[in-house]
Amino acid sequence: MDKNFRVFATCDIGEAIDLLRRRGYEVEVYPHPEAPPKKLVVDKASGVDGLITTLRDQIDAEVFEAGKGTLKVVAQFAVGFDNINRLDANRYRIPFTHTADVLTEATAEFAFFMLGALARKMWAAEHLTRENQWGYWHPYLPFLGDEVTGKTVAVIGTGRIGLAFIKKCVGFDMNVLCYDPAYENHAFVKAIQEIHDLRQARGLVKEKAWIKYVPFEQALREADFVSVHVPLLRVGESATPTYHLFNGQTLSLMKPTAYLVNTSRGPVVDEAALAKALRENWIAGAALDVYEKEPLPADSELRDPAIADRCRLMPHFASAARITRLSTDPNTGMAGRCVQGLIDVLEANYGGDISKMPYVVNKEAFAV
Ligand code: NAD
Repeated sequence: MDKNFRVFATCDIGEAIDLLRRRGYEVEVYPHPEAPPKKLVVDKASGVDGLITTLRDQIDAEVFEAGKGTLKVVAQFAVGFDNINRLDANRYRIPFTHTADVLTEATAEFAFFMLGALARKMWAAEHLTRENQWGYWHPYLPFLGDEVTGKTVAVIGTGRIGLAFIKKCVGFDMNVLCYDPAYENHAFVKAIQEIHDLRQARGLVKEKAWIKYVPFEQALREADFVSVHVPLLRVGESATPTYHLFNGQTLSLMKPTAYLVNTSRGPVVDEAALAKALRENWIAGAALDVYEKEPLPADSELRDPAIADRCRLMPHFASAARITRLSTDPNTGMAGRCVQGLIDVLEANYGGDISKMPYVVNKEAFAV
């Protein structure tokens, strides 16, 4: 097969680009760290066989129209694909791929670390030390954190990352309230309960922890921690959209001692409502990795110094671990899986049947 395919990558994804070049591909990489302007992506789409994109690029009819006749695949370097208009992709019959699974554990562990750093006030405690404000050891001054072990966590969205997050929580003997309107994995819940049972039976813990699926409102009312692992689904994209799933009304259901952790997508949380909830102490704190607008604007209410000790802000960093991001092995790294998705389509792997290609998202457009 002629492998002289032309590809435009909207950012550098490391050695995986060389892997394509060694196969004979002509790859142009946008050379700057910021996202390219949409107009440039549109211009480049005309005349290339494939695009490598990230969550920063808006991929819609304008891009597909420009790519008409040549563009055969969009390979997204992320598991989330809310930046790609699926209906437009289907209308133009362009398959797009994503990098599920390889970032699951990295994202789940980061969410758990955010939860711990938030509850135990690690950021405030380190600042105290660095700024030479650590004047004495005292039973409760200048502040205390909250324990994680043995507490109850609500996991909103029990897909790949939500389930991996639950596995981390087991080690801390946490009770787990699961909520997912589309997918209840009772075999997984049973396995986790068996582990909890065994930990108690072998004398590793006194109290037996538990796990169960519950309705959304119950999860919010009863949890000490709420961790969000849903895709961004806007109104019209799902019977249970996730846009502003956390708003003034739902945040008010949480306990005043509870913490919110969001590593999913920014628009899942109404930031104005969250800032108010933090200022007015409706909840104890929040740790965020993702924002309604990224990078987080300088004038964001979330930067309010009055809530700084209870609001952790990370730079969309949950999958940002070396091997997870850059390994060229499609079973290990996002880069490897991204280029493999591209190769599958362009080189007509799986007998050219796009509906059988494992990393293609919009298989429905290609089912016969
Ligand atoms: P997934 O598709 O395996 O799981 C998502 C789950 O959410 C599904 O089970 C789905 O049924 C459920 N869901 C859908 N609507 C819901 C609703 N209204 N309420 C509750 N649950 C709902 O996806 P995944 O691989 O677990 O990834 C989840 C999301 O995490 C991605 O879509 C992405 O946006 C985000 N993510 C962020 C980072 C980061 O760096 N911060 C990294 C990876 C993924």
